[in-house]
Parts: sequence; structure tokens; C-alpha cells
Amino acid sequence: MSKKRKRFVWLCSSVLVGASLLMPSAASADMSPGTPDQQIYSVSGFVDHDELSQKLQQIEQTSHGELDLEVAGYSNQGLEIYKATVGHGDKVVMIQSEIHGNEKTGTVALVNMLKQIATNNSPKYQQLREELTIIAVPMMNPDASEANRRGNELSWDEVVQEFPQLEEASPSWNYYTYVNEYWDYASNPGFDVNRDFNPDLNYEPQASDFPGNSASPGWFITPEAQTVRDIYKEAQEEFGNVDVFIDLHHQGQYYVEGTEDEVTLSLSGVFVPDPNTDEGEKYSEYQDVYDGEFAKQLNVAAYDALQDVGNSIFNHISLYPQDLDLPGTALGSFALNGSGSVLFEVTGQTQNFGQKKKGQLVKAVETGLYGIIESVADQSVYDIDPSLYDEIPATER
Ligand SMILES: [Zn+2]
Repeated sequence: MSKKRKRFVWLCSSVLVGASLLMPSAASADMSPGTPDQQIYSVSGFVDHDELSQKLQQIEQTSHGELDLEVAGYSNQGLEIYKATVGHGDKVVMIQSEIHGNEKTGTVALVNMLKQIATNNSPKYQQLREELTIIAVPMMNPDASEANRRGNELSWDEVVQEFPQLEEASPSWNYYTYVNEYWDYASNPGFDVNRDFNPDLNYEPQASDFPGNSASPGWFITPEAQTVRDIYKEAQEEFGNVDVFIDLHHQGQYYVEGTEDEVTLSLSGVFVPDPNTDEGEKYSEYQDVYDGEFAKQLNVAAYDALQDVGNSIFNHISLYPQDLDLPGTALGSFALNGSGSVLFEVTGQTQNFGQKKKGQLVKAVETGLYGIIESVADQSVYDIDPSLYDEIPATER
């Protein structure tokens, strides 16, 4: 399936280094690789694409039919994008990881959870399978994961081949062509896939919508975003709604506001201005399905589960910056389509400390995710006071 790798240099002035969800902008301190020690940390303790393939197949084989594994699509370089479904309930929870390929804890957490939920026969897991349909897309951007970088591997030339109507268009604003000490996007360019989503799930790229910007929707020009969009639409058609959508990321290193505690994980449920407000008026066509209150309840469920761990780093949880207008993110687009949407941002990129804190961070992700899915399965999430969301401490940047 592998396409021939193309080397294409786009002479572009922008130098972009991403800062997780927030902004793929210039050399931000967020993911600025430039922490004092510049060594490249090993990431071999995480799950690479081959291992992911093996592990998912193994879980499917040992799950007695509880886990259904499909190849939902292929990356631009021809790697499988997997969709793993477990459970047969009415409530649909979709979770994806590694839309940014240097943000790897989510994939490990998802594999661990899929194994537990698909193979454990204790009442807790039986209830999860009965009440929920969990659709996991671990490592949705495998080319980026293999390269341990943020962007996928796709040139603007290839995009134009696929969408000839873009011949005269400027490359999209989230196209990476920079070079730094970690990545050479000049000889191997790519896109921030997490700006390629559009709340109009049937959108077709038009030249007049390029180069676009961060407050405008994306275009579904990357095969990775197209694949996830198709999984989402299929679930919508089958179940009527994707109740919950969770996207697993990493961020820079910060403090929990008003404390000396380093943030372990930040959460958020707000990615676009509420379509029911003046500020969100441009999204008014989505106002009937957008459910910001439910997103807040889901976040509180994750937060509470982490606080329940007892005095530990798992309590060092903060709220991600809230004044966002990012309709091109998967979270923004799916929130506008009616999914209670939750962002997880664990501390540090692999360029900051590799796999050093892997065990703890994976545990934090799993704890938060179980907090959400258990509360949806037993319906306790609907009793949570959404205003508790606003009491989660902010992130001190
Ligand atoms: Zn990210």
C-alpha cells in the first residue's frame, strides 16, 4: 500500500512549531524543544505502528468477539488507520490519539483500556460493554507517529493532485515546511491534521477557502482527517449521535494556577464560542445540537476521577485555556455536531522528556478516561453540576 515518498520543497517563509491544540505558531515555548538538554529522548517504550497492529489483532483474537478491529483508512504513506469498536450500548464514545505524532501517551492508554474492556468479565467491564459503544482510533496519524513529529507526511503538490480545483490556491496556513534541530519539514513537508476538520462534514475543498486561518474551518484535505470524519459520520448514521468525543494530546510544562504543582494533565470542553451566544453567532446553524453543558459535565467526571486517586500528581489537574475559536480541530468540528467533547493534554512532548514519565502519564489518561466512560455508562454524568467545571483551576503558563 505504501506510496512512494515524495520530496518536495515549498519555499515558504513561515516557520511553524506547534503547541499542541492551541496554536501551530512560531517557536512557541510550549513545545519548544529547546529545554536545557537538547538530546533526543528515546520513544521506544511507546507503541509504534507495527506494535499497535500486533496488539490490536491480539486483543481482537482473545476478546471472544467483544472487540471488532477494522482498517478504517490509510495514512498518506500507506499505513493502516485502525478503528477498534468494543461494546454494544446505545451511548457512543469516540476516542482518538496521536493526531500529533509526538504525543504518544494516549495510544498506550487506549491499547491498555481496549484490552481491559474487551477481555475483562468483571461486572464493571460488563456494564461498560452493555451501556456503551466505544469507538477508538488509536494513532490516527501514523505517519507523524513514525516520524515522532506533529505534522503528517503530505506535500501540497499531492493535495493538488487529489483536488485539482486547488491548482491556483495558496497552500493552507497549517502546512509545515520549516527546518529545525528536530524536524526537516522542508524536504518532507506535512500538515497539522488537527486543523483540517470542518464542522460541515460534507465539505469539499474550494480554492477560495485557502490559505485559511486558525479561526476558520479546515478542508478535509488530509487522508487522516478524512478517515476520522468518515468513522464519525458512519457512527452518526448508525446511532443518531456520537455522544462523546475525546481527543488525547500533550502540551508544554506548566503549573496549576496558584500552586507550585506542575500540571499533570489539563482538560477542556470549550473549543469554539457557544453557537447560542453573540460571540458564537457564526456557528448559529449548530446551536440546536451543540451541548456545551454536557461537555462540562464530562470534564468534571474526568477531573473528579483524578482527584479521587488520593494525594498524588494525579491531583495536579488544570483547565486548558478557554477562549478558543478552533473550528478546524477535530474537537471543534465534532462539538458543533453535537458531541460532548473533551480535550486531554498531558504534560510535555516527547521532545521534552521522551518516555521518562510515561507510566504516570498513561495512568493519568486512563484514570480520566475511565472517569468519563463509567459516568456515562451509569448515567451519573447527567447529575453533575456543570458549573463545577469553572472551579477547575486554570493553567499558569
Ligand atoms: Zn496535540
